Amino acid sequence: MAQWFAAKAAHPDALLFFRMGDFYEMFFEDAHAVAEALDLAVAHRGEHGGKPIPMAGVPHHAAEAYLARLIRRGFRVAICDQMESLEESKKRRAPTIRREVVRLITPGTVTEEALLDGGRPAWLMAVVADGEGFGAAWLDVSTGAFCTEAVGADGLGALLARIDPAEVLAGPGVVLAREDARPAIPPSAPAAHLARLLGVATLDGFGSFSEGEIAAAAMAADYAAASQGGRMPRLLPPDPQGGQEVLAMDAATRKSLEITHSERGTPRDCLLAAVDRTLTAAGARELAGRLASPLTSLAAIEARHDAVAWLLAAPPARRLLREALKGAPDMARAIGRIALDRFSPRDLAAIRDGIGRAGQAEAALSQRPGIGGGLDPEGAAPLPALLAAARGRLGAAPDLGLDAALAATLPPRLDDPGSIAPGYDGELDALRRLRDDARGAIAAMQMDLAQAWGIASLKIRHHQQFGYLAEAPAAVAETLLRAPPKTAEGYAPIHRQTMASAVRFTCTALAALDRRLSEAGAEAARREALVLRALRERVLAAAEPIWALAAALAALDVEAAAAEMAAARGWCRPVMTGRTDFCVLGGRHPVVEAALARAKGPAFVPNDCDLSPGRRLCLLTGPNMAGKSTYLRQNALIVVLAQAGMFVPATEARLGIVDRLFSRVGAADDLAGGRSTFMVEMTETAAILHQAGPRSFVVLDEVGRGTATWDGLAIAWAVLEALHDRIRARAIFATHFHELTALAGRLPELAPAAMQVREHRGQVVFQHSVAPGAAERSWGLHVARLAGVPRATLARAESVLKALEQRARGLTPLAEELPLFAPPPPTASPDPLLAALDALDPDTLAPREALEAIYTLKALRPTPVP
Ligand code: ADP
Ligand code: MG
Repeated sequence: MAQWFAAKAAHPDALLFFRMGDFYEMFFEDAHAVAEALDLAVAHRGEHGGKPIPMAGVPHHAAEAYLARLIRRGFRVAICDQMESLEESKKRRAPTIRREVVRLITPGTVTEEALLDGGRPAWLMAVVADGEGFGAAWLDVSTGAFCTEAVGADGLGALLARIDPAEVLAGPGVVLAREDARPAIPPSAPAAHLARLLGVATLDGFGSFSEGEIAAAAMAADYAAASQGGRMPRLLPPDPQGGQEVLAMDAATRKSLEITHSERGTPRDCLLAAVDRTLTAAGARELAGRLASPLTSLAAIEARHDAVAWLLAAPPARRLLREALKGAPDMARAIGRIALDRFSPRDLAAIRDGIGRAGQAEAALSQRPGIGGGLDPEGAAPLPALLAAARGRLGAAPDLGLDAALAATLPPRLDDPGSIAPGYDGELDALRRLRDDARGAIAAMQMDLAQAWGIASLKIRHHQQFGYLAEAPAAVAETLLRAPPKTAEGYAPIHRQTMASAVRFTCTALAALDRRLSEAGAEAARREALVLRALRERVLAAAEPIWALAAALAALDVEAAAAEMAAARGWCRPVMTGRTDFCVLGGRHPVVEAALARAKGPAFVPNDCDLSPGRRLCLLTGPNMAGKSTYLRQNALIVVLAQAGMFVPATEARLGIVDRLFSRVGAADDLAGGRSTFMVEMTETAAILHQAGPRSFVVLDEVGRGTATWDGLAIAWAVLEALHDRIRARAIFATHFHELTALAGRLPELAPAAMQVREHRGQVVFQHSVAPGAAERSWGLHVARLAGVPRATLARAESVLKALEQRARGLTPLAEELPLFAPPPPTASPDPLLAALDALDPDTLAPREALEAIYTLKALRPTPVP
C-alpha cells in the first residue's frame, strides 16, 4: 500500500491503475469511481485505518476497452506497472515488486487505436497569457501534428472553438470556462527547452514565433512527454499559423451552424457528417480540419476547387484513386505509435501497405487520357497544381523494404513470434529451424517413451509452469510407479505430478529436450526482436517522407470525396471573387436535404439568395415552420463549404470571399444552461455589432425573440439599422416581427423576402420557397391548429385576435409613432468636401472611379487661410 500511496500522491487527479499480477486494481475512492463508471463490483482487500479497503479491478489484457470508456467519461488514468518479476525482486531481497507510473492516459495524449476516434484529431492545446493576448499551441501525439498561434485578447474563444481540443492546459493567469482545462506551469527558458525536446539546436528554422507561442508549445510538448513516462513523442516541426488566413467564426456561430458537431439530434446531423464521403480516417480528419478552418485566400480556395473540378471531370481517375484509398491504413497514427515504442506488427504493416497504396494512387493520377485508363476527354486537362504536388509526393515514397521483411500473416502482438518473414534474416531462419526441429523431436520422443514404458496412450504435453511432460492415464501409471521398466540411459520415468485421471512424468532425456526447445525459442525471439528494432529504426528515419505521404493521401481523399459528393448530389463549383458578391441559385441545405431524402417525404425545395451590392441585407419574414432557419443556415453553410474548398449544394453560386461569418439564433427555449438565454442572445449579438465589417456575412435568426414583444422589436430594429448603415455586411435577418418590413422603404439596401405559405381549406400549407416581399400575416393560429391545439381554444384565440386587431386599427400606425421610425436627422452638410465624401460608396467603386474620386476630393479641399 505504501507504493500505492506514493504513486497516488504523485498523480492525485488521475485514477491509479495499479498492476497486480494479471489485473489492474483500483483502491479507495478510485475503486468506487471506476466501479460506477464501468459498472464493476467493489470488493475489499486488507485494512487501512481499521477499515476494509475498497478495491475494483480489470484484467490487464482487456484494459484498453475499459480505458476507452473511462477516457470518454472524462477521467485521466495513471498506469502503474510492475517493473520487474517476482524472482527479480526476491533476488534484490526487496519486500515487494518494484512498480512505477509509466504513463498517463488523458484525452489529449492517447495513441491507441481503441482509445482514439479515427475521424477526428485528438488535440492537446496549451494556452499562456502573453501581454494583452495569448500564445497557443496544439499538438496531436497520435499523428505528430504541431501548430502554434498568437491571438489577441478576444480571439481565444474563437480559436478554442476552431481547434476543438480534446484537452486544454492553461498557463498561469489563464482562466478558461472549460471544465477540462487544467492548470499547468510553463517550463523556464522555453525556447531552449522546446528545442531540446524536439532535438534541434534552434527553433529558427521553423518560422517566427511570439514568446507566448513558444511558451505554450514548450508547455504542450513537456506535458506530452511527461504523459508518456518521459518518452518524447515524435512531433512534426511546430507550424506557426499566424500567416494563414482563415474564415473567422466564433463559438456561437459554429454551434448554431452545427459544422462539426450537432447540437440536437444525432451526430449525422452536422455538416461534416452530411458531406463526408472520405474513405480513410486520415481523410476524415483532414475534412474536419478544413470545415473547421475555411480559408480566406482566393488563390488557395481556387486551388482546391481546381483539384475537385479535375477529379469531378475525370470519373475513371477518381474511381481508381478512390480504389487506392479505400481501406488504406492510417500511416500517421501508426508512425506515432512506432515512435513511442507502443506498436504492434500491424503498425509496421500499415506503413508497408500505406506505401503500396501511395503507389496505386500515383498511378491513378498518372493515367493519360485515352491511353490504357480510357479517361474521358474532360480528364485531358493537365493536373491542377494541388494534384500535381500530391502526385509528386506520392512518387517520392521511401523504399523501406517492408514487403520482404514482414510475414504474410502477422501475430497480434510484437512479443509473439512470427512477425518477420522467412527468408529475410538468415540467422533468424536458422534459429527457427532449430526450434522447429526440437518440436519434431518431441513427437519422436513421445513414440520412444510410449514404447519404452509400454504405454500406448502416453502423450507429451506442454505446461506453462513445468514445460514438456509425459502424461499417462492413472490406471497404467500405477504399475509404472510400482515396477519401473528397464529403459535405456536417460529414459527412466521420474514422477512429477499426480492428478485425478492422469499422472505426469518426465525423464532426463525429455527434460534436456525441453530445455533445448525453450532455449531455441528464446533465441529465435531475441533475434526477431533485434530485426524488428532495426526495422523500427529504418521506419523512424523515414518519418518525414512518410508523414508527407500520409498528408498527400489525406488531401487527395478529401478532394476526391468532394468531387464524389458533387457528382452524386449535383453540387456546383462556386465562382469566387474578391468583391462583396453573394448570389446563389437553387441553393439547398445539405443536412436538411439529406434528412428529407432519408424520410422519403416531400423533396427539399431549392431557393435562390441574392445579396449583391444594392440589396445586401435580406429581411426574411414568414410563420414558424415555414423554413426561415433552414434558408439562413443553408446560405451560411454554402460560404463555409466554398471557402473550405468544396463544391456547394446549388445550381450556380457567385461568392465574394467572406472574412468573418456570424450566425445567431434568438434565445431558444433551452434553459438547461442556467444563464438567462436572453442575456446570451444579446451578448452574442453585441459581438457581431463590434466585429462584423463590410466583408463579413451575417445570419440572424429571430434575434429579439427572447424578450417582451416591444423591446424585442426595438432591438431587432436597431440591429437591422446598424447592419445596414454602419456595418454594411451581407446579411439575412429572419424574423416573425412583421412590423420590421415597414423599414423596407427607409433602408435602400434592404430587400424584404418572405417564405411562401398557402391556405388550403382553412389549413396552412408551407411551400418552403422564398419570394420577394413581406409576409402579410403571421399564420400563428393556423400553425396552432396544425399542432393540434383544441378547437375551443382556437375559437377563443380567434375572437381575441379580432378584438385586438380592431383596437389596433384605432391607433396611430407604428411607423409614425415611434422615434425609431422618425426620419433620420438631416445629414446634408454645408461643406462640399464632406458632402462629396458622404456620397462615396467605396464598395461599389471601380478602381478608375476611385482614382477620379480622389482627384475630386483634392480639388474640393479649401484653400488654407494664411
Ligand atoms: P422556421 O425557422 O421558419 O420555423 P425551419 O427552417 O425550422 O422553419 O423549417 C421547418 C421545417 O421545414 C424543417 O425542419 C424542414 O423539415 C422543412 N423545410 C424547411 N425548409 C425546407 C425546404 N426548402 N424544402 C423542404 N422542406 C423544408
Ligand atoms: Mg426558425
